[in-house]
Amino acid sequence: MKAFRCLLVLLMATAAACGSDRPGTDAATPAPLGQTFESDLRLAKEFGEAYWRQTFSTDGLTYRPVTAFVPYRGDNGPDCGGQPSAPNNAFYCPAGHFIAYDESWMRELYDKMGDGSVYVIIPHELGHAVQAQLNSDFRLNVERELQADCYAGGTLGTLVRSGSLQAEPGDEDELLLNLAAAGDPTDDWLRPDAHGTAEQRQAVFAKGYNEGAAAC
Ligand SMILES: [Zn+2]
Repeated sequence: MKAFRCLLVLLMATAAACGSDRPGTDAATPAPLGQTFESDLRLAKEFGEAYWRQTFSTDGLTYRPVTAFVPYRGDNGPDCGGQPSAPNNAFYCPAGHFIAYDESWMRELYDKMGDGSVYVIIPHELGHAVQAQLNSDFRLNVERELQADCYAGGTLGTLVRSGSLQAEPGDEDELLLNLAAAGDPTDDWLRPDAHGTAEQRQAVFAKGYNEGAAAC
């Protein structure tokens, strides 16, 4: 797992922050990481799983990577345990231990709201994959959802503080905005109404971001 040179993510305007003079930069690597939907998506997947691999390892556990990230469009998504997928959605499927996402919907969010959407949705879904591995138990679906938001915050905050990713002032606010706007479309087949209010979701994301996933 190579280090990430920059997190262009949080604001589209942070492009200037991604210079080539950062410590640990591999000069042989092409520059345009994190500058397109595709590369941001790839980074979100890679850094998200790298984070959890490291975190599990620190706890003496072995992280099991998801089997696949499955892009789909509209109604053409994969089934999960016999349940059809929905358009404009992203979800973790415990039955196959994979993450699927409506690529056209995510691209639309990305174009409209900035790359923060990718860096909220993918880490959130990875949070569900982690919950599955830890056999986390919840009384209410909303608790599961809010912990996934907290895990997403913990993932990003830890990577930013470690220097693996670079953020600029205001980036966290941008993520929070995306969190509220992108919503949590997932797990509709469980309890479609129970994902927490925007305020709740932003609060737990910030908690994870500031205190780390262990606080989730
Ligand atoms: Zn969720």
